[in-house]
Amino acid sequence: MHKADLHIHSCLSPCGSLYNSPDEIVQHAHSAGLDIIALTDHNSALNCPAFLEHCSDRGILGICGMEITTLEEIHLLAYFPDLETAMDFSQYIADLLMKIPNRPEKMGDQVAVNKENEILENYPWYLGAAAQRGISDLVTDLHALGALAIPAHIGRRNFSLLSQLGMIPDLPFDAMEARTSEIAQNYKDWLFLTGSDSHYLETIGNRYTVLGESGETDGDGFALLRNAIKKRRVQPVYSPA
Ligand SMILES: [Zn+2]
Ligand SMILES: [Zn+2]
Repeated sequence: MHKADLHIHSCLSPCGSLYNSPDEIVQHAHSAGLDIIALTDHNSALNCPAFLEHCSDRGILGICGMEITTLEEIHLLAYFPDLETAMDFSQYIADLLMKIPNRPEKMGDQVAVNKENEILENYPWYLGAAAQRGISDLVTDLHALGALAIPAHIGRRNFSLLSQLGMIPDLPFDAMEARTSEIAQNYKDWLFLTGSDSHYLETIGNRYTVLGESGETDGDGFALLRNAIKKRRVQPVYSPA
């Protein structure tokens, strides 16, 4: 079994703390006893290369992800089978994003870093903007690449499936993400995961999901996640003791 936090933001997300370097995220995840973590910055995977290197140094299974803002302004979590697929999709989303110049003093810094924490760039376009592509097409795009598509925090008051559409549309999502068990109880047909949605180091692992079966240790993080979903061996822990 694996303790997984599948929703973490780094200093690349405008709303993420500048202290959330890939290095620090992995250190805090290790201290929190997590053994699978996913980096899910808003609309970009530019910090995934450094993130994966730190994960492998610490013996944590890292998953390249992204939290895409769809045309409907729904947050959609995407998980990719490998770094190359994530980076290609990151460029695809960059081309689809509304080009609003980022103003760090108002919207927050968007810092891409290398493994040594050196700044590679302060990303010029606001990453909180919406991609000009609807959720249905994005799910199709992601599945064509073997990636997973999971709507984020579906009961939240904004940027969620329920806030934007008022219902769960009939689309082939791989699972749902929620922050509380109450939401999950209302939609029993769906498989639910949870994650910390951490924008600060202190909250990493505040919510997590137990994946897989006991004794199962093989495979990379993405394969473990995909198989756990397929076998429905997924246990969200909304409020750890
Ligand atoms: Zn979100
Ligand atoms: Zn998020």
